[in-house]
Amino acid sequence: MQTDFTLGIDIGGTNIAFGLVNNNGEIVYEGNLKTSEVRNPALLPELIEEKLKDHHFNNIGIGAPSSNTFSGMIENAPNLKWGVNIPIVEYFENYFKLPTKLTNDANAAAVGEKLFGAAKDFSEFVVITLGTGLGAGIFINDKVFDGKFGTAGEFGHVMVEKEGRPCGCGRKGCLETYCSATGMVKSIALLSSPNKDTSPLLTLTCPTPQDIFKAAENGDQFAEEIVEFTAEKLGYWLANFACFSNPEAFVLFGGIAKNGENFRQRVDNYTQKNILNLYQGKVKVLSSELHHKNAAILGAAAYAKY
Ligand SMILES: [Zn+2]
Repeated sequence: MQTDFTLGIDIGGTNIAFGLVNNNGEIVYEGNLKTSEVRNPALLPELIEEKLKDHHFNNIGIGAPSSNTFSGMIENAPNLKWGVNIPIVEYFENYFKLPTKLTNDANAAAVGEKLFGAAKDFSEFVVITLGTGLGAGIFINDKVFDGKFGTAGEFGHVMVEKEGRPCGCGRKGCLETYCSATGMVKSIALLSSPNKDTSPLLTLTCPTPQDIFKAAENGDQFAEEIVEFTAEKLGYWLANFACFSNPEAFVLFGGIAKNGENFRQRVDNYTQKNILNLYQGKVKVLSSELHHKNAAILGAAAYAKY
């Protein structure tokens, strides 16, 4: 029996993950590259092909930050060091001679949650990706919302503090400088607390959000304050976002969200606490149900055929 495989690629600020996905949403082959090792994105198709060996596929779906679905370009991605406009679809179509679709990594995640995960029963929902940056994949009327120019969902660059933390986009106080993996780590240096001096976090040379969650679990008060600060800020802004978009649910996705029920619950509490009465109890805050799979690869592949 002939099986129809799609190559799904998730380009992130730290890793590029890819895999072959069959029609049942199963990843049959997976690989990855360090983003920092890919100096020239024009060579990415070749680098991926080397790892795929003799596997065959019929189409390609790419999820990447700051992507323009319409132009097929990655435009000014602050977390990728590849320059201004990267014609990534052109690179892949020229190399593999196969139809290629590009979308925001958060849109790819949203399609993945819709087809295989937590958003199966929703037609209006927002997936919030909490990785190197913060992105949003917005579903309206059962479809991904691309916006007029193909770049909707840059929720991470909503400016939440005047003269706040500097952001990779060149402005200050963007939400992702607080609520993302990078933002949480920045909080170690930037938050002040009487509990800070004794925190084990200060002894780590390259702390990660996982270190922060772990220290909080082990009773470190400063780590606990960072987790709470992150959840509070995120919940507050989800409550605001709900006011003008009225979604059924937010689905938390990616690195930070993987830290489970406790973090989700805190974000949910702050969302419900700040939300307009009209929406009270009507907007769910859920965790991704795709953590056990590589959801971003699945999503990118699903988007290629969606
Ligand atoms: Zn920004």
